[in-house]
Amino acid sequence: MSKLQLWVDCKSCGREFDTRVQMDRKSFDRGTLAANYHLCPHCGERRTYAKADYRTKDALPARAVSPPPTGPQSTPSL
Ligand SMILES: [Zn+2]
Repeated sequence: MSKLQLWVDCKSCGREFDTRVQMDRKSFDRGTLAANYHLCPHCGERRTYAKADYRTKDALPARAVSPPPTGPQSTPSL
């Protein structure tokens, strides 16, 4: 199932940013998403965004997304 990536226009500086929220289209259509906090990476303002504020984009295929940096890898001890 393809996922949607949720973007918003910052209410403070007006620049578009990726909220890092992903969900499938069905969940987005059914969800209320009344008020969520998102921190703008451009100006650092944290504001609330509702469903109407979101722009949906198709999420990139998994292979194009680099894994998020994690802590020390848990390597199995042999
Ligand atoms: Zn901003």
